[in-house]
Amino acid sequence: MSEKRVTVTCADCNLSETFDSLGTAREFVEDHRTETGHEPTWQLPELAAGVQRAGDEAGVCGRPGCTDTDSPLYRGEE
Ligand SMILES: [Zn+2]
Repeated sequence: MSEKRVTVTCADCNLSETFDSLGTAREFVEDHRTETGHEPTWQLPELAAGVQRAGDEAGVCGRPGCTDTDSPLYRGEE
């Protein structure tokens, strides 16, 4: 289990890929969207969830309080 592991899943084609870097995962998601028109979702480590939200919404956010595990974007541990 890597601390930085990011899992990308796509419900439209049962895709599941794991990446060690957020940047690589992001590239994969964008490529998959472009190629298939699907909407893959990310499963990020807890520490990175706020980074993902901030990235989607505003680009950069350094505040830990931004992490929202109730967000539909967050699909980590249940
Ligand atoms: Zn797909």
